[in-house]
Amino acid sequence: MASPISVERWLYPAEAGLYCAPGDFYIDPHRPVERAVITHGHSDHARSGHRAVMATSETVAIMKVRYGETCACAFQSLAYGDIITVNGVTVKLAPAGHILGSAQVVLDYGGQRAVVSGDYKRAHDPTCTPFELVSCDVFITEATFALPVFRHEPARGEVAKLLASMAAEPERTHLIGAYGLGKCQRMIRVIRDAGYDKPIYMHGAVVELTKLYQALCIELGDVRPVAGADPKDIAGGIVMCPPSALGDRWSRRFNDPVTAFASGWMRVRGRARQRGVELPLIVSDHVDWPELIATIAETNAEEVWVTHGRDDALVHHLASVGRKARALALVGRDEEAE
Ligand SMILES: [Zn+2]
Ligand SMILES: [Zn+2]
Repeated sequence: MASPISVERWLYPAEAGLYCAPGDFYIDPHRPVERAVITHGHSDHARSGHRAVMATSETVAIMKVRYGETCACAFQSLAYGDIITVNGVTVKLAPAGHILGSAQVVLDYGGQRAVVSGDYKRAHDPTCTPFELVSCDVFITEATFALPVFRHEPARGEVAKLLASMAAEPERTHLIGAYGLGKCQRMIRVIRDAGYDKPIYMHGAVVELTKLYQALCIELGDVRPVAGADPKDIAGGIVMCPPSALGDRWSRRFNDPVTAFASGWMRVRGRARQRGVELPLIVSDHVDWPELIATIAETNAEEVWVTHGRDDALVHHLASVGRKARALALVGRDEEAE
């Protein structure tokens, strides 16, 4: 049997992003390329202008809503678990548990396996398929919350805090800042699961994606745009908005609202204070520190490559426990106002 070809010889950062050379495709490239495999619909991973895009059907649908039907010349959708071969590279998508349609890209070539996890989490999320652990030789991970201080709370408990606040202040509208793709819809779903069945109102910026989630069979109940609704009906209820809207002129239409922000960053009190958030909700769509460390161990990966976030902290920690790790320092990734 031929000896394995080490992953770094066929998968590496090139100018447009992480590149699989024998397959001649990029994963989540930050500029237009001939062939791209896209892990999920967030804008720092999915961009418009590629010639051919391969992704889950949900990610394709999200890209079309965000960037238009012709944001790529050709789309190939792949279901979780389907296996295809691209110039001798075996490609499979596995659920990442991050947002609807999010996938890890599993690549087999030359007797070695690399898993590009994109963004992922292990916590329960009723709006997407749970993360699937895939053992591999090289695990490529994000490090958004890669510091021991970051421990996210179960979303259910944070939603209970929200409902308690509403009960205590029934006159005040609760304005919830949440990232518009994924977090917003997850919060609505968890609020429904907690038994809240009144209409939930939406800032215009989150309407289209919320409708898409509903079209893709995520049950969100009665959701309505703020625009056109009677302010008397909204008063004392829940309004979802992008985080940026919490502090802008738009939010002034609500009389003395309680501002809440659903984010992993809310673990840091200073961040909540800085943004004038009255009710911080520690809900994240990324792994927290314990989940990250456990996941890396469970993959049995000999080597860990870190794409973005607190990469130095994670690489340092992994080295201290005897695991080979390096930072890829991919450009174009951001914190997604997560
Ligand atoms: Zn993401
Ligand atoms: Zn990301």
